[in-house]
Amino acid sequence: MAREQDILKMPPPSQPPKLTTRRIGIHTSSAGGVENAAERAYRLGCNGFQMFSSSPRQWAQYELARPQCDEMKRLREKYDLKPLVIHTNYLINLASITEDFLKKSIEAFRGEIERALAVCAEYLVSHPGSFRGADREKGLLQTAAAIAAASHGLDLVKGGLTILIENTAGAEYSLGSSFEQVAEVIEHARHHVPVGACIDTCHTHVAGYDVVSEEGFRDTMTKLDATIGLKNVPVFHCNDAKAARGSKLDRHQHIGKGTIGPEPFRRLLNDPRLMDAAFIAETPIDEPGDDRRNVAALKALVR
Ligand SMILES: [Zn+2]
Ligand SMILES: [Zn+2]
Repeated sequence: MAREQDILKMPPPSQPPKLTTRRIGIHTSSAGGVENAAERAYRLGCNGFQMFSSSPRQWAQYELARPQCDEMKRLREKYDLKPLVIHTNYLINLASITEDFLKKSIEAFRGEIERALAVCAEYLVSHPGSFRGADREKGLLQTAAAIAAASHGLDLVKGGLTILIENTAGAEYSLGSSFEQVAEVIEHARHHVPVGACIDTCHTHVAGYDVVSEEGFRDTMTKLDATIGLKNVPVFHCNDAKAARGSKLDRHQHIGKGTIGPEPFRRLLNDPRLMDAAFIAETPIDEPGDDRRNVAALKALVR
């Protein structure tokens, strides 16, 4: 990946970015401190954003200091940045059948919840895990049980935090490539914590759902509503795809430039049932400025 040009090191925008009636954002770097992600998101033209609250590929977890959380809160109010979505660490596997690994994953997931609460995030997005060595059904139940264990004694309702299970591309052993599987985790976990889903357009497409044709898009949304329920999907990850529908290859592409194309994003962003949802890009940065361009591409599709 090309080196990211840090928008914080560039002059601030001379006028506030134009916003749309939709909540649109992008996964934003929290380099130099989580509070920096808010300033970056604003400068990228977002009114919502996603970030990691710790290093995504290390078990060691950051401690969030009180002043950092206060500064994040101040910046979010100043710029009207809502929601704040946190994506969990990639190492966590809540469906692991290895006792040690599961224990480590539950501890790390608890840390994710604690940091999300500390920084007043609205959503914590997690992949449902990998069921290697077990069967899928057991894996789904294990994931729900691990979420319950990780959140034990923490008050997510009071903190205004909802855990979101993300649908996946469906690579070998990965759970959650169908809406039914995501719905099953939610069904089992919702007795313990506020929980919903985050639907990723790239994952949906490469998992085999038709989102590209007009009719296919309508059918896919009907399926989503009948399984998870649209009201349980407060966040969509808006990513175009490099690979073909049904390929199970998770490679994100710039909005409108991949095998999905611009039209499905236009339909999604203008769906009256999704007025209150947030749309977050996790697109690649191949050239400096790609992040700003992808945010702008999504905003331009809003009618
Ligand atoms: Zn995603
Ligand atoms: Zn992905």
